[in-house]
Amino acid sequence: MVPSRCRAPVRFLLSAEISSIYKKNERTRKVHNLVFIPTMDAARRIQAPLSRIGNIQSDGRPILGLDAKELLKIVKENSDEAVLVPAHAWTPHFSVLGAKSGFDSLAECFEELTAHIPAIETGLSSDPPMNWRLSVLNEVRLISNSDAHSPIKLMREANLFDTDLTYHAIMTSITEPASHGFLGTLEFYPEEGKYHYDGHRACSMRLAPEETRNNGGRCPKCNRKVTVGVMHRVEELADLPAGSCSPAGRPYQSTIPLMEIIAEVMQAGVNTKKVMGAYLDLLSRLGNEYHVLLEAELDSIRQTSSDLLAEAISRVRSGRVEIQPGYDGEFGTIRVFSKEERQQITGQLDLF
Ligand SMILES: [Zn+2]
Ligand SMILES: [Zn+2]
Repeated sequence: MVPSRCRAPVRFLLSAEISSIYKKNERTRKVHNLVFIPTMDAARRIQAPLSRIGNIQSDGRPILGLDAKELLKIVKENSDEAVLVPAHAWTPHFSVLGAKSGFDSLAECFEELTAHIPAIETGLSSDPPMNWRLSVLNEVRLISNSDAHSPIKLMREANLFDTDLTYHAIMTSITEPASHGFLGTLEFYPEEGKYHYDGHRACSMRLAPEETRNNGGRCPKCNRKVTVGVMHRVEELADLPAGSCSPAGRPYQSTIPLMEIIAEVMQAGVNTKKVMGAYLDLLSRLGNEYHVLLEAELDSIRQTSSDLLAEAISRVRSGRVEIQPGYDGEFGTIRVFSKEERQQITGQLDLF
């Protein structure tokens, strides 16, 4: 149940994610793309040729044996207002720049149609500063959708707009470099993403890029090749030093899903009833998650919950958190307080 303070009109924008699995230049490529579509009519026009290539009904994210460039061509031929954006562009196994089955550049994938790619999705394991290290990516917008998979994960990342609420206005702010309607993104801390570092999940081996290089790309435990993560891949393709800013770059704010912060504060699992109860309670008293995470006065958080949660949210807002980076499909883990700090802040107080 959505707490009444969090209710608002919900609008939808037609979009789909399509997985392309195909061979190009003697290598198997697996690339996920998002398609944004202006009208139901345009959607039907795009569906017709795609349904002759593969089954687009059996799965929410259809898999087609179709070159990503051909997909772009079909999309554009059937609706010049439709927009294709490479999804989570850096993940190792299913993305346009991924280490395992992607390309070394957008141009290698989309060739003469590359100019029709106005944006990429940074994905959970990368953030704007990482992408700014590639001069070619300074020409595209960096957007961040939730890649939600389940409703509770909606808005774990988000795009912020100041436009009319129409397809045309929203998409123009992405496709037109001169537009000011795209304000920036709300981001996961990239370390929290499942593929930030390199490693081997089965062996519990988490490796920083330079450790992987020192090990010849192999797992120190089992000696097989490790899954190369997003940080490593960015370093491989970057032509600009760390800390470079894109002139067209937009502001971003890193945050952590509220339920995870509450779980850390309560020292309970994120999927427990206890954490869900505290989460809904907070939302019903203060307002929606975005408001609590980014805007609410720390004092009112303190009064409605606890000193510890107010302090945790303050730390998340200013980046004072410790994160063990994710690797090989394993999410990163956050830690906001050390044991001593926790005692210092709580004193004798109860948490909730
Ligand atoms: Zn995907
Ligand atoms: Zn291993």
